[in-house]
Amino acid sequence: MLKDQDRIFTNIYGLKDKSLKGAMARGHWDGTKQLLEKGRDWIINEVKASGLRGRGGAGFPTGLKWSFMPKESDGRPHYLVVNADESEPGTCKDRDIMRHDPHTLIEGCVIASFAMAAHHAFIYVRGEFMREREALQAAIDECYEYGLLGKNNKLGYDIDIVVHHGAGAYICGEETALLESLEGKKGQPRLKPPFPANMGLYGCPTTVNNVESIAVTPTILRRGAGWYSSFGRPNNAGTKLYSISGHVNKPCTVEESMSIPFHELIEKHCGGIRGGWDNLLAVIPGGSSVPCVPGAQMKDAIMDYDGLRELGSGLGTAAVIVMDKSTDIVKAIWRLSAFYKHESCGQCTPCREGTGWMMRVMERMVKGNAQKREIDMLFQVTKQVEGHTICALGDAAAWPIQGLIKHFRPEMEARIDQYTRNAMAHGVVLEA
Ligand code: NAD
Ligand code: SF4
Repeated sequence: MLKDQDRIFTNIYGLKDKSLKGAMARGHWDGTKQLLEKGRDWIINEVKASGLRGRGGAGFPTGLKWSFMPKESDGRPHYLVVNADESEPGTCKDRDIMRHDPHTLIEGCVIASFAMAAHHAFIYVRGEFMREREALQAAIDECYEYGLLGKNNKLGYDIDIVVHHGAGAYICGEETALLESLEGKKGQPRLKPPFPANMGLYGCPTTVNNVESIAVTPTILRRGAGWYSSFGRPNNAGTKLYSISGHVNKPCTVEESMSIPFHELIEKHCGGIRGGWDNLLAVIPGGSSVPCVPGAQMKDAIMDYDGLRELGSGLGTAAVIVMDKSTDIVKAIWRLSAFYKHESCGQCTPCREGTGWMMRVMERMVKGNAQKREIDMLFQVTKQVEGHTICALGDAAAWPIQGLIKHFRPEMEARIDQYTRNAMAHGVVLEA
């Protein structure tokens, strides 16, 4: 278990003073100027060496992403954009950073902007996050007042941070839809490449990073890449905020070491599974976009990118949704289908049509009003959507259903059998 002194987020539960004074007393903003004086290359190399991977869900190496920004200026401004549009069902970690520990993010913005020669950073906050935006803005105002932000500031690097409040659309968390929205347009994903480092906000070099990825960098630089990479295991380094919800005795968000065993995470921080481990049905371990894993397999799971990939799922946002045996798993996955259908931006056909089609078939699967061969057909449709769309929402809509069919096919079939028996008992003739 991670020791208290190794936790980067020192106020994730909001029990301490979150003001600049309080943050400084807890070690944040300590020696920031000296870190900048070490230079851009040192910062980027240190972040690379730490093994930090993007905490928004995709896990792309953060230092590598920073190194994609042009070294020489071609006259275009550079931008840092922080993705604070946290909307993945089950995920509630960035929210806690913004409302309780906002200075970790602001200091991270200064350092990351400096490393990429950006003088403007935008933080795009999810539309529903009112209090988070207020807390963040209050912390930014304090920094301007204290001379940590703005022109001719105490750190010797001109930097402005603007908080932009979204309008509440899941798709605006996709980085290019976010950029479109920030530019004042309809939030629809762009085709990649070009990646934002070449053609981002207003057509300028831009790096889009998740809140947690940016907020951990000052501590990594202060304590050293070696310190950070000593947690977890190769390719899965560092500490991580896990948001655990569902059928545990004590749902929570907690910073833990990467690669912590699932059993330990749940026992140490959540008071165990409701009704005991034998009552565990399934877990969605990385936010709603990854397939579920049956409880029996999760018991020995290692909570990192590789450990969960080996189980056919993923770490994603590390939003751990725990379902006990009282859960109607078919209905739970149908609910996710309905979510993705609702949130599809409708720009590409496989997603626009596929999400609706999958949701409607899932609706019938919940009732059992289907034929068994339709389970295979449904699986085939998910394969037609996966990998054939502009952005990852298509994959996210397909994967939960694939997980359901892979692990819970007997439940789906049993439901169809039950529906057929009931129909026959009432003299209803079903289509062959
Ligand atoms: P992605 O793998 O396409 O990209 C990840 C990041 O790496 C992006 O910033 C991208 O620009 C960069 N990148 C990837 N390949 C690159 C290359 N060749 N050159 C330069 N840059 C490159 O994934 P994504 O679509 O950004 O994110 C998908 C993930 O988002 C899902 O796995 C899901 O877990 C997560 N997600 C998170 C939330 C949330 O609320 N945090 C919501 C929805 C989805
Ligand atoms: Fe829009 Fe879906 Fe296509 Fe993404 S995959 S661009 S959400 S239609």
